[in-house]
Amino acid sequence: MGESLNEKFVCPSCKETGFLEVIIDGAVLSHLIDLSDDGYFEHKEGSGVEVLEGFTSRFQCSICGYTLTDDNGKTIDEGEGAVEWITKHS
Ligand SMILES: [Zn+2]
Repeated sequence: MGESLNEKFVCPSCKETGFLEVIIDGAVLSHLIDLSDDGYFEHKEGSGVEVLEGFTSRFQCSICGYTLTDDNGKTIDEGEGAVEWITKHS
């Protein structure tokens, strides 16, 4: 088994290695915990989140928010573009 491409991502701005997919127009199921009587609640961290629908808006660095763009400066919004970007920059 090869290394996942996302593990090859290195942020050009802050050199971190994690990146995120930002989803818009999505429906997300999340377990909530600690519902208090003033209506404030927290989401369970880690597991328990399920994306039902939505579109990829962009890919960005998980630390500084650096957004992946193609050679024309267009924001990358699909997996193929992210693969290309990582291949080119690793
Ligand atoms: Zn970064």
